[in-house]
Amino acid sequence: MQRSRRNFIAVTVVVLAGLLTWFSIPGYGRGERASWPFHRDIAALDFHRAHAFAVMADTVDIMVGVVGDGFLGGALWDAGLSGRNYEQVCAILRDSLGWRVQQLGDSIVAVYHRDRLAELRAYPRNRRGFFRICWTDGVPGLWEFSPQESWIRTRAVQCRVTSTVWGALWESAIPGDLTSNGMLLSARDTARAVGYVSELQHELTDRLFCYDIDFYYDVRTGDSLWILIEETRYPEDGESGFLRILAAKYKFAGGGLAEALPFFVTPEGDESSYLDHFHRDGASLRTMFLKMPVPFGRVSSPFSGARLHPVLGYTRAHRGIDYAAPLGTEIYAVGDGVITVRQWQGGYGNFIKIRHANGYETAYGHMNGFASGQAVGSRVRQGEIIGYVGTTGLSTGPHLHFEMIKNGSHVNPAEEIVPPSDPLEGENLALFLEQLPVLDAAWTVLNGSPIPVPPPPEPPAAEGR
Ligand SMILES: [Zn+2]
Repeated sequence: MQRSRRNFIAVTVVVLAGLLTWFSIPGYGRGERASWPFHRDIAALDFHRAHAFAVMADTVDIMVGVVGDGFLGGALWDAGLSGRNYEQVCAILRDSLGWRVQQLGDSIVAVYHRDRLAELRAYPRNRRGFFRICWTDGVPGLWEFSPQESWIRTRAVQCRVTSTVWGALWESAIPGDLTSNGMLLSARDTARAVGYVSELQHELTDRLFCYDIDFYYDVRTGDSLWILIEETRYPEDGESGFLRILAAKYKFAGGGLAEALPFFVTPEGDESSYLDHFHRDGASLRTMFLKMPVPFGRVSSPFSGARLHPVLGYTRAHRGIDYAAPLGTEIYAVGDGVITVRQWQGGYGNFIKIRHANGYETAYGHMNGFASGQAVGSRVRQGEIIGYVGTTGLSTGPHLHFEMIKNGSHVNPAEEIVPPSDPLEGENLALFLEQLPVLDAAWTVLNGSPIPVPPPPEPPAAEGR
């Protein structure tokens, strides 16, 4: 078990996409899917990581072997296979897949469901899908190939807000197959439902619409909500889970429609793309920077020209904002950028600096620790965790010291007028506008009734009118 636990942690990043098997929705077959361009780019594994843990960590153990050095047996051994399982799998891989010779980068994933081998997956190194074989009562079934796009289910949800957004989602958004029995019977089932709605609401209110809608003041009874949700499904227990929101619309009872429309953006020089959301005209939903680098926190010391330094005991300028927050609170990159400094830096303690577009930099000090998997040169996205609140360096208690620098000089983040994030332009904008009618049409089909679409913008007024 010790070894399996270690392997589980070590290889999670590699295999998580494969843990999730995605069902296609009834009545929305593969043929229709072909007109759905958004699925093309679903390759980023990062999205899946947290959700896979949440869904399966308690019943499933995963072990992985990477085929290298021409020795298949070693990879099988690493995946925990021995005895009769080992012989069966060796034969299957040799005879069916021709994995006799070295295929550096191919990998094998063994899924144990409550300590019994339940499924074996063979991943070709291009990862455009995987071969899988399931065991029933110790007997292996037939190989089948799961192409990548079949791991995703898109579901349309429509809600009417009666009191809160949470209430509306709880009433209407929980999938019928969230649990294997289709009901919420046990405490675990309820916890899963709460988890599902929490993730959905967080993505909707804290990420997609946090710049457009004040969910405290703006929400009224009679508002309506349409969401296109991507879900994951695990075959062993037949349970599904929330993955992410593809698109969303919020219609105010008093008039007005907020939209979050999807486009897969490929940063220059990158091969992989990520999902971002835009207004109907291609303007970004996001502003360039988040309001705060911590999820909650109190400004304990604002930006100022001069103040008495609590540790040094003399007056000097405070060129940033201090946020008091509990030790270990997540710290977010306030905008997309590249990490340029990530080290201990004198009075700042553990310190990170990020370079953003348009001459901006942000800096984060006194951190307890850094997020794993990042280094100087890493590209981080807005809202990505970069570290945790601490009290390292010259600090009197847990807090985050946050600075914003524009063209080399410190500016007050609270006063800096934050420009919108990059809009879609050129070829991307054209592609996005071309996809919108496809999205609206597909969404209507999935929803089963029309979704609100704003009227096309009026042509510019003729001169002299
Ligand atoms: Zn400070």
